[in-house]
Amino acid sequence: MNNAAFDLAAARTDQERDAGVAEAGIALKQTGSTVCIDCGEPISPRRRLVASFARRCVDCQTLYEAEKKSR
Ligand SMILES: [Zn+2]
Repeated sequence: MNNAAFDLAAARTDQERDAGVAEAGIALKQTGSTVCIDCGEPISPRRRLVASFARRCVDCQTLYEAEKKSR
């Protein structure tokens, strides 16, 4: 990877992190979130229906709970 491509990738990561922080802030005021607070992927409407408080997609929630148990 050349430097320009690396910078672009780094900038994109920063933008995505900022977007994630903003989404997390919004999520605090609501129950649940339309996007995963960990990976930023949209949470499926079906998941939001059965778990309206969900703020993570199924994958991240599974990971999160696994990490919680291991502590
Ligand atoms: Zn996720």
